[in-house]
Amino acid sequence: MKRLVFGLLLVSVATAIVVAALQPARRPVGLVVIGGTVLTQDAMHRTLSPGALAINGTDIVDVDAPAAIAAKFAAAETIDARADVILPGLINTHTHAPMVMYRGLADDMALMDWLQKYIFPAEAKTVSPELVRIGTRLAALEMIESGTTTFADMYYFEEEIAKVTIEAGLRGVLGETIIEFPVADAKTPIEGLARAERYIKEFKDNGLVVPAVAPHALYTNSKTTLIAAADMGRRYGVPVLIHFSETEDEIRSARDQFKMTPAAYLESIGFWGPKTLAAHGVWVTDEDIAILKRRGVGIAHNPESNMKLASGAAPVGKYLAAGVALGLGTDGAASNNDLDMFEAMRQASFLAKHATHDPTAVSARAALDMATIGGARALQMDRLIGSLETGKRADLITVAMNAARQTPMYDPVSHLVYVTRGDNVRTTIVSGKVLMKDRQVRTLNRETVIADANRLAQRVREAVGR
Ligand SMILES: [Zn+2]
Repeated sequence: MKRLVFGLLLVSVATAIVVAALQPARRPVGLVVIGGTVLTQDAMHRTLSPGALAINGTDIVDVDAPAAIAAKFAAAETIDARADVILPGLINTHTHAPMVMYRGLADDMALMDWLQKYIFPAEAKTVSPELVRIGTRLAALEMIESGTTTFADMYYFEEEIAKVTIEAGLRGVLGETIIEFPVADAKTPIEGLARAERYIKEFKDNGLVVPAVAPHALYTNSKTTLIAAADMGRRYGVPVLIHFSETEDEIRSARDQFKMTPAAYLESIGFWGPKTLAAHGVWVTDEDIAILKRRGVGIAHNPESNMKLASGAAPVGKYLAAGVALGLGTDGAASNNDLDMFEAMRQASFLAKHATHDPTAVSARAALDMATIGGARALQMDRLIGSLETGKRADLITVAMNAARQTPMYDPVSHLVYVTRGDNVRTTIVSGKVLMKDRQVRTLNRETVIADANRLAQRVREAVGR
């Protein structure tokens, strides 16, 4: 009897050892996010419902069913987003972050009046490193709270924007603006170019910030300056950002001056390169689109700004049909007046339908693509961001879908574009770091950011006599 018990004991110990050896040890990772629905935005538009992600360091290491992720990984931290939709963080391909300080300062005007009578004078009196810092903190808070994880920016004192972006934990393609007339951070374009060069060298190998050079527009820069800026982009292998073919006025003045469209003129001086991001591209011919496609130029489409300034409707369908990389942007808050990319998606869809009299133009799916993987392509960053795939950076958001406005939900893509607002974002993660959880922003002090902005607004008010 004793022998039998001993024998059974031996067998069970041996079995336990074999079972333990067969079961692979769970790999330790920093973070697991358990969904709800996961919209990967990969090439197959793979959707997992439910789904989960394993994140280690800055990267996504797996996307799978929750049970499979639990079996493979032991997480230091787990975020339960089972009531949420998980998707790649939104990519705002065109903004001027500190311009949140001019939000609502001057509305209801055409671009040139608005720029020349209000924005340029207000900027001349108030732009300073301090305004740029405080404004960018406010913009970063708004972006984190509304699910933007990457933004492309063009402004002055861009090194201040870069520092705040890193402090907030956001990802940015940040371009130092070059403009022909004297501005707060440069008296001449030559000074501006020198400043851009120093800035590019300082931030060149940063994990979150991609420094860039940003000649403001064709109509605000000389040929020499445009060429010098494009050369600098090539020399350092950094993006070149420009406002392009935004209004009919711009087309008329290019025709008067150069007898060409802006696209053809910029082609003739060798400006376009594969790292150029052109904002707007509203007024373009089929030949212009062919040039942009051939040069690998990315387009930042800004439906809300284009509608508010009555600039026109970009030919989104033509760009997509031609295979031009198309991202979505809000433009600066002074012409929008917010940085909510959910609203930008909705308006991109509505504007295209309205302009083409075609309700099938820019579907919810197409708008979501533009705000995620499309933006990543336009920024030439689709190897790193824009979709939830193993090996890419862990830039993602979780969005609550339980508001009255969102009930019931048949199709998460429809809901994200047509009824969701930035306020519904619950979690924002960039490069594996949780910037906001349960709507509590961790990297910025909300009260201080808003109080500082309100204090500074008093100075803006006095400067412009409001
Ligand atoms: Zn702009």
